[in-house]
Amino acid sequence: MNKTLVLVDIQNDFVSGGALAVPQGELVVPIANRIMGRFDRIVATQDWHPANHGSFASQYPEGQVGDFIDLNGIQQILWPDHCVQHSEGAAFVAELDMARVERVFQKGTDSGVDSYSGFFDNGHRLATGLDEFLTDAGVTGITVMGLATDYCIKATVLDALQLGYAVDVILEGVRGVEGQTGDAANAIEAMADAGANMVHAADL
Ligand SMILES: [Zn+2]
Repeated sequence: MNKTLVLVDIQNDFVSGGALAVPQGELVVPIANRIMGRFDRIVATQDWHPANHGSFASQYPEGQVGDFIDLNGIQQILWPDHCVQHSEGAAFVAELDMARVERVFQKGTDSGVDSYSGFFDNGHRLATGLDEFLTDAGVTGITVMGLATDYCIKATVLDALQLGYAVDVILEGVRGVEGQTGDAANAIEAMADAGANMVHAADL
């Protein structure tokens, strides 16, 4: 067995009270804690931005959250400042059991490019080390949960599939930003169409 759980961005800024709160984001925490025992290996990703990150609306005189800009050749939606390195918002949610998390892969560390995926930046130029880690460990399939369905979960899952991993997504273990109604459902459909298995926590 080599069952590996990938926890995506379960950080203070993405749950209630956070700078970029995902509706009901905190509800994934007890699910994560409950299912960890079913896995041989657990890793986590962490959004980890410099304070001047190019995805922050605050970096542009006219920038509004939700605007689209061109960030070094890649279309970028502008976000509120979030998950600034070493800030409380960037910390993992206190209730999340990190004891068995073997490695944390940080992303979004380059101010010039965003990184939704836990594997690569949005330009697919630099790797976070997650693929190398999993490959070295002999992992061929992963189970993914965390935040947010329509951004970092979707990007992580699509990259994982493209890299050749079998991917399970825990349906109750993800929540979406839902900038537009239906974004999360569309993301689930896109992941399923690309070959991900949608599973329920109770069936693990
Ligand atoms: Zn971010």
